[in-house]
Amino acid sequence: MKTIYFDNNATTKMDEQVFEEMKPYFSELYGNPSSMHTFGGQIGHKIAHAREQAAELLGCEPSEIVFTSGGTESDNTAIKGTLYAAPNKRKIITTRVEHPAVLAVCRESENRGYSIIELGVDKYGMIDLAELEHQIDDNTVIVTIMYANNETGVIFPIDKISELVKSKGAIFHTDAVQAVGKIPLDLSKSNIDLLSISAHKLHGPKGVGVLYVRKGTRLSPYQLGGHQESGKRAGTENVPGIIGLGKACELAKENIKLENNKVKKLRDKLEKAILKNCPDCRVNGDIANRLPNTSNISFEYIEGEAILLMLDQHGICASSGSACTSGSLEPSHVLRAMGVPFTAAHGSIRFSLSKYNTEDEIDYTVKTIPPVINRLRELSPFVPK
Ligand code: PLP
Repeated sequence: MKTIYFDNNATTKMDEQVFEEMKPYFSELYGNPSSMHTFGGQIGHKIAHAREQAAELLGCEPSEIVFTSGGTESDNTAIKGTLYAAPNKRKIITTRVEHPAVLAVCRESENRGYSIIELGVDKYGMIDLAELEHQIDDNTVIVTIMYANNETGVIFPIDKISELVKSKGAIFHTDAVQAVGKIPLDLSKSNIDLLSISAHKLHGPKGVGVLYVRKGTRLSPYQLGGHQESGKRAGTENVPGIIGLGKACELAKENIKLENNKVKKLRDKLEKAILKNCPDCRVNGDIANRLPNTSNISFEYIEGEAILLMLDQHGICASSGSACTSGSLEPSHVLRAMGVPFTAAHGSIRFSLSKYNTEDEIDYTVKTIPPVINRLRELSPFVPK
C-alpha cells in the first residue's frame, strides 16, 4: 500500500538534493573543521557556505547564525542563555500555545524564582497585543512567542510584536520552526533578537538547527566546552547535518513561493471536500491567517486517535492534537487554550502537507475519509440521538 504523508509539521521527507550534498561528509570528507590541516580545514569552508545559505534565507548576516542540534536546543539556548545573561530581571512572557520546547523551559524557570506570564489566545488562536503591552515591564527579561503554531498553523503578527517588545526594552525570541520554509521571512527588516529553526521541518536532516542571534544581543552560551560557533555553542559540529541544512535553506529560498502556492491549493481542496462531505466538522484556527500547508479539523463526537488508526489502515498518515500522558488521553493544550469544546478537541486531526503531495493523493483521501468518519460515529456513544 502506498503511504500518503500528511504529517509534515512533525517532520518532512529529506530532499534528494540535500541528501546528495551531505553524502561525502559521512565517509570521504570526515575531517574535523577545527583541525589545522587542510583535510579538516576544507570542511570549515563548507560550513561557512552553509552559514551563508541559512543567512540568505533568513535575511541576516552569516555571523548571526549559530548551528545547534535542532529546534529544541535553539529554543532552550535562546531562553536560558538570555536569563543567564541578564540575572537581575525576573519576568518571562510567553503564550499558552507554544511548543513544549518553549513552554517547558519557561515553566522550569518558575521553580528558580522567575515569574512567568502565559498569554491566553482567542478562539482563532491569537493573542491580544494590548495585553502583551500591558504585561511588559522593566522586570521583563524575555518575551518568547512562536512565529506560527505547529498544530493549527496560525501565524502571529511577529513584526508588530517584536516592535512592541523592543520599544519596551526586553529581548524578543520567536520559535520559527514551523514558519521557515513555508512563509517568507526577512530578519533585516525585523526587531527579532533571537529566532529558532529546525532543518527537518524544511526537507533537511534531523538533529540540526539554527539559532539566529542578532548582532549585539547578550546571550550566555548554554552548552560549554570548545570554541565552536564563535563560543556561542560548544561541541564538534554535525558536519553532514549542517551542510544538509544549508542546502535545504538554499532550496527553500529558491522555491518557497511556487511550492507553497501548490501546497495551499491542495490543502484548500482537501479541507473544502472534508467540510462538504462530513457533517459536524470545524476547522480550528484563523482560516485566513495560517501556514499554507496546515489544516486542523475537528470531527465532533469521535476520538482523534481512532480516526488516525483507521486512516493509517488506508495508508494515510496524519496527526492528532492529543498527547497520551500518564495513561489518559489529554486534548491538545493549544485547542483547549482556544476554547475548543472537549468533544471537538478530542476529535481533532492535523493534516500538514508538503511539496511532495499530489492531486491524486488528495482525491484518494477525500474519498476515504467520509466512510471512516461515518463508521466511527456509528460506534460512538457520544453522538446525540
Ligand atoms: N518548535 C516547534 C514549533 C516545533 O513544531 C518543533 C517540532 O515539532 C520544535 C520546536 C522542536 O524542534 P526539533 O524537533 O528540531 O527539536
